[in-house]
Amino acid sequence: ASKGAGRGRFRFFSSELLKDAEDKRTLEEDLREALARGEMSVEYQPIVNARTNRMTGVEALVRWRHPVRGDVSPALFIPIAEEAGIIAQIGEWVLRKACADAAGWPRKLRVAVNVSPIQFSSERFPATVVNALAHSGLAPNQLELEITEGVFLSQSADTDTIFSALKELGVRLALDDFGTGYSSLGYLQSAPFDKIKIDQSFVRAATLPDSRNSAIIAAIVALAEALDMETTAEGIEYMDQLNLIRELRVSHAQGWIYSRALSSADLSEKLETGDWVIEPSGPARQRSA
Ligand code: C2E
Ligand code: MG
Ligand code: MG
Ligand code: MG
Repeated sequence: ASKGAGRGRFRFFSSELLKDAEDKRTLEEDLREALARGEMSVEYQPIVNARTNRMTGVEALVRWRHPVRGDVSPALFIPIAEEAGIIAQIGEWVLRKACADAAGWPRKLRVAVNVSPIQFSSERFPATVVNALAHSGLAPNQLELEITEGVFLSQSADTDTIFSALKELGVRLALDDFGTGYSSLGYLQSAPFDKIKIDQSFVRAATLPDSRNSAIIAAIVALAEALDMETTAEGIEYMDQLNLIRELRVSHAQGWIYSRALSSADLSEKLETGDWVIEPSGPARQRSA
């Protein structure tokens, strides 16, 4: 009986695995066609000065509307694009689109673009940035590249050379999702970051009883201030989270409490009507983790 149960279990798991693999393969095939079919778009989420509520910039977030599945999360398809070797193509499209959109907004805003470690580590990457800037006419200091520490783990092209090329261009660099990986202090020393983005998962628990996260956020802020870097707290949804990060002197905030990601047209309209100071609004506090 136990043998039979074992076989049954095996069959169950293997068919599940097969389904997942098939699913991933079809998604990958669809992803290869997505750009050409016009299924990709870019939205922009405001990043706000936490003290003044003034929008200082936006983060470009790629969107994929699949004809059958509907919206597919970038958290799901970006890793597939990385594995499939098409992340550089998608990333370049997002970069060009974001620069072009930003150059057309009625008010100068900084635009932050996420860059995959694979895209970043390619020798061609600095030239891609030069082209996107030249093509759009966007000033280099209006562009911020968000990279994760994954950049330091990949063994490809000379990361230092790419960093200096980008710094020479005058674009800004942000270290994204800080607090989630190894968060080595060596990364901060070796690369010229202008900003640290404190990961959402980190901020989320900070206001819960007995959380030690506020002490850690305070330490990150002290570090950033000493190194002359800005800080952004990601994923702020609740008033108590906003109050906490204000007390801890995190310089910028991003999250649904200020705004969801907007289309370029909607953002443009907001800027047109002088609507760049955003009053935070959201529930007072989180009930559970
Ligand atoms: P990320 O760069 O850390 O971006 C922040 C994510 O937090 C976005 O998710 C954003 O929509 C979400 N978010 C913002 N405010 C809140 C909030 O108050 N609550 C919650 N729960 N979430 C909030 P999104 O758009 O799903 O993107 C997920 C990740 O996918 C990004 O994380 C980034 O790592 C990656 N990604 C998105 N666009 C691109 C891109 O163009 N290129 C690359 N390489 N990666 C991208
Ligand atoms: Mg980001
Ligand atoms: Mg992030
Ligand atoms: Mg993240």
